[in-house]
Amino acid sequence: MNGATFFLAVNFIVAMSFSTVFVVVAQSGRSRRAALWIAAGFGVASFSALCELLVAYTEMTKFWALGAFATVLFGMVMMKIGIGELYGRRLDRRVIVIFSLASLVLAYLIYDLRRGTPLHAFLYQAPFAMVVLASAYTVLSSRRRMTMDRFLGILLLITGLHFLAKAALAVVVGAGGEARDYIHTSYALVSQSSTAVLMVGIGLTLLAVLILEIMAHQRSESEMDTLSGLANRRGFDRGVQSLLHRSAGLQHAIVLCDLDHFKRINDTFGHPIGDLVIQGFGQMLRACVSSDAIVGRIGGEEFAIFLPNTAVDRAAAFAQTLRAEALAIADLPEALKVTASFGVASVSAGSLSTGDDITEAFRQADMALYAAKNAGRNRVKIAEPDRRRM
Ligand code: GH3
Ligand code: MG
Ligand code: MG
Repeated sequence: MNGATFFLAVNFIVAMSFSTVFVVVAQSGRSRRAALWIAAGFGVASFSALCELLVAYTEMTKFWALGAFATVLFGMVMMKIGIGELYGRRLDRRVIVIFSLASLVLAYLIYDLRRGTPLHAFLYQAPFAMVVLASAYTVLSSRRRMTMDRFLGILLLITGLHFLAKAALAVVVGAGGEARDYIHTSYALVSQSSTAVLMVGIGLTLLAVLILEIMAHQRSESEMDTLSGLANRRGFDRGVQSLLHRSAGLQHAIVLCDLDHFKRINDTFGHPIGDLVIQGFGQMLRACVSSDAIVGRIGGEEFAIFLPNTAVDRAAAFAQTLRAEALAIADLPEALKVTASFGVASVSAGSLSTGDDITEAFRQADMALYAAKNAGRNRVKIAEPDRRRM
């Protein structure tokens, strides 16, 4: 077994392993189509290694040489489709079919050209370069701009250009007089090893992109309350913390809100209607708050709203609006009037520990809410300024 044959075997095993891993990743359900297309791409491309061996060791040289070309090309096209799915850019299927068939015809036509000439070398590599550079464009021009996305885009760009470099190298050092000589050339060794390294790089990066996406999705699921459609306590806290970190020194406000006599609503109208109230109240909150605010259902019938860069008076006026809107929640029994009590406090994100700021603001808003309940419910109370902090 010479060096190039060794790399062919390695490429086959690596591509097959990636294909299997992407099939497994697809089972998570997230970006399933993308993962399956990428799995198919690696799977199909892996057969090029077998084709290359058959070129060298059987009589049907032309057939297997074209097979090697086709499997690599179709594999890359499938990966391009998968990357398009992942980055929200679907290609017209007709363009894909026409491009693939035209490339195959081109490979057939140039087969008898002298190997190692610029014409043969560049025409042979051009379709590979085009598909991979198109994939790079898809990634680099997409709105997803995490480090991993950037890295993938650049890696695809390098890989696309490396096909053109391979063409230049074939011209300089020669790619074997005939197709069956290829495997015994040093060019084959360089070509197969560089492709192996880049293929592993792309496979691992794509895997990282998909896994990060699955993790982000699972995190957002774990921070979501399904009944109200709002963030749960965990999601609310994380949202507030990241906002506080981005806006140190500003004055924010927090509104705590608790539905009045909710136990009675459950007892009188039944638990499912109680659920509808929570659902309707959640929808109302989502409709009323601006996009930069953070809203969460932080307990059974308790909600919190974090209003960034908002003075406490404005927050109280906003709470009054919410109080009025609660009375107008639709699709509830005629006799059911939903009221809620509100406690409002300011959050000063100026000190070193944002965690302390928000805990203190929560405590004050909770006391104001308690005062609203004691004063007869269905009202808004602003927290008394805390003398310890003045
Ligand atoms: P208050 O005006 O003082 O707030 O009285 P309340 O009855 O609203 O308060 P309490 O804390 O005594 O009762 C809250 C009730 O909310 C008790 C619990 O069964 C009910 N609850 C909590 N989560 C849910 C839910 O997801 N669905 C329904 N239907 N009820 C819930
Ligand atoms: Mg309560
Ligand atoms: Mg209540």
